[in-house]
Formats: sequence, structure tokens, C-alpha cells
Amino acid sequence: MHPFLLTQAQNNQSAVKALAANNKSKLIAGGTNLVDLMKMYVESPEELIDINALELKKIEPVKGGGIRIGALASNTDAAYHPAVMKQYPVLSQALLSGASAQLRNMATVGGNLMQRTRCPYFFNDSFPCNKRVPGSGCSAIPGYNRMHAVLGTSDKCIATHPSDMCVALAALDALVKVQGPAGERTIPIREFHVLPGDTPHIETRLQHDELITAVEIPLLPFATHSHYLKVRDRASYEFALASAAVALDVSGNTIRAARIALGGVGTKPWRAEEAEKVLTGAPNTTPTYQLAATAALKEAKGYKYNTFKIELAKRTLVRALATAGGIS
Ligand SMILES: Cc1cc2nc3c(=O)[nH]c(=O)nc-3n(C[C@H](O)[C@H](O)[C@H](O)COP(=O)(O)OP(=O)(O)OC[C@H]3O[C@@H](n4cnc5c(N)ncnc54)[C@H](O)[C@@H]3O)c2cc1C
Ligand code: SF4
Repeated sequence: MHPFLLTQAQNNQSAVKALAANNKSKLIAGGTNLVDLMKMYVESPEELIDINALELKKIEPVKGGGIRIGALASNTDAAYHPAVMKQYPVLSQALLSGASAQLRNMATVGGNLMQRTRCPYFFNDSFPCNKRVPGSGCSAIPGYNRMHAVLGTSDKCIATHPSDMCVALAALDALVKVQGPAGERTIPIREFHVLPGDTPHIETRLQHDELITAVEIPLLPFATHSHYLKVRDRASYEFALASAAVALDVSGNTIRAARIALGGVGTKPWRAEEAEKVLTGAPNTTPTYQLAATAALKEAKGYKYNTFKIELAKRTLVRALATAGGIS
């Protein structure tokens, strides 16, 4: 790890000011991702701005329904908050499927949104990686790409987005609240993470001098019928091979509305709108779910070792829908 200066921000404004003053600075929250990356020389900030003293831990209802989760709320506190468990079980389940209990106690909601890919070539500086060193090449495309993405890839990068929480937030149309030198703004979760394209080192729309202050989840009454299913190589402490966050509004035997997002298969948390269209107005049956799964993976492209993910993601989605739709 390279030496760095550690400073402590006392409020949002001083955090933003410190970021703006040094373009080689980084915020540190729980440190569960950033410190690992610093140890591996993937990230080498000159200055770490500790934001743990900021008042951003609250989880509270918002006017008109919905909930606001402060950026420094831990993954554990967010997962076990009674309103999250009751109104948005998909989010609680997604959070609890991530990492381990100890990590979830340290990991924050803001840090989870900003966590970086687990592509092994990204973590190992003896391999070319366009995300770590722009223009150096991608070792995963010709390499061992079993864990990599099948949706949203480019010829520069095929790394998956690792977060479970963000998949649930994508299904719930969450809003990311941020504060910068010019004031506050809101970034819809679907626009927050960006596709790799020719610039895989750019992962989000957050600017260097902006602080995430909270995530707001709008009221979605049928999210009480939601589910997160994660398929992985071992039962805990493992990232998704494929996952699905779903919410279904079913009346009688008809699906009135659906929300779907996929994880483990996309270069960003993957909202599957085509699949939602297939479900809307259709009978609440397994054949409908299968049609939706085919639509969700229609654009998928497999690589040498990860083609299995396309069928796996379809089956994961069908099973998650069956649980949310009450037919499993
Ligand atoms: C062994 C292991 C297993 C894991 N398994 C999973 C898993 O299965 N699923 C999953 O989803 N995640 C998993 N994680 C990732 C974990 O969820 C993240 O490391 C964690 O959420 C990051 O939060 P943090 O507060 O520790 O962030 P930090 O490490 O403190 O920061 C991460 C990044 O976020 C930025 N940041 C932090 N807060 C803010 C803010 N308020 N505004 C702007 N930028 C900010 C930092 O500058 C840094 O770039 C795993 C991690 C480990 C180490
Ligand atoms: S997939 Fe992306 S992160 Fe992995 S080696 Fe290629 S460029 Fe780097």
C-alpha cells in the first residue's frame, strides 16, 4: 500500500470541499472494498477523507410514502430495518445475501453503490486491464471468464457489476441523492452506473467532487410481493453467478405489473424492461415466466467459459418470479 494522508470530514460540505481540493483523494466509509484495492495497488489515493462522522446514517420514511436510507447506514441496519423488511423484502434479501455478517456490519449503502468489480484481472496488476489502466487491454476476454458478464459487455471490458443491493435498487427505481460544490442533485439508479463501452474505467455518473448522501426508494405498494434470488458457487461469502430481483402485482390470475432486475450477468445492475412488458397483462403462470426470461436474456452474449450463465440466469429469474407470484 502506498502512503496516504488521512483526513476527517466533519460535515457534508467539508467532505465535498476536501474532494474538490485534491483530485487524487477518495472518500472512505466502511473501507471493506477500498482498503483491499489499496493493498493490491489497484487504487492509490494520495488522501483518504474519512466520512464516518457525517450524519448520514438515518433510515426514515419520506413524504408520500417510500423510504430514505442514509449513505452511511450499514448494510446490516438497512437490511433489518422494519420498514425495509416489510415494504421492500427484495432489498432486505439482497443485502443479506451479500458478503458475511461482519462485512455487512462495516459496509455502507454509499460504499456498496460505488464498489468495484471482482474481475480477478482487475485485482492483479501483473495483467493488462482496461478498467485499471485505460488502453492496456482486457485479459478476461481471451482469458478465464467464467464469472464475467453476458449483458452490456464491450470489446474493452466484460466485468460484472458485483453488487446485490444495487440489483434490488434497480428493480425498485431508487434515486441516488448526491451533494457537490454546486449543491444537491438526484441520479436515478438506472443512470447511476454506466456501461463500459470504450471507457470501462468510468463506472458511474458520480463526479469526483460529489458525495452520495442517501438513497430514496419511492413507494411501490406491490413491492411487498418481491423476492431476491442469488445463485452462487457456495452458500455464503460469494458473489452471484446469476441473481434476480423481482416484484409482481398479481390480481386473480393476471399479472398487472412487474419489476425485474438481474445481477451477476450484467456489466451494470441490469433492469429487464422487455421481460416486464412480457409479464404485464399475462397469466401468472410458469410458461409466462419462461417467456419473460427469454426476453430478459435475448441480447445476451456468452464468452468461452461463461455461456452457461445465459440459461442459469433464465432459470434463476423463473424461480424468483414463481416465489414472488406465489406459485412455488
Ligand atoms: C470478502 C467480500 C465479500 C463480499 N461479498 C459481497 C457480495 O456477495 N455482494 C455484494 O453486493 N457485495 C459484496 N462485498 C462488497 C461489499 O458489499 C462492499 O465492499 C461494501 O458495500 C463497500 O462499502 P464500504 O462502506 O466498506 O465502502 P468503502 O470500501 O469505504 O468505499 C468503497 C468506494 O465507495 C466510495 N464511497 C463510499 N462512501 C461514499 C459516499 N457516501 N459517497 C461517494 N462515494 C463513497 C469510496 O470512495 C470507495 O471508492 C464483499 C466484500 C468483501 C470484502
Ligand atoms: S473484464 Fe474489465 S476489469 Fe476484467 S480484465 Fe477486462 S477490462 Fe479489466
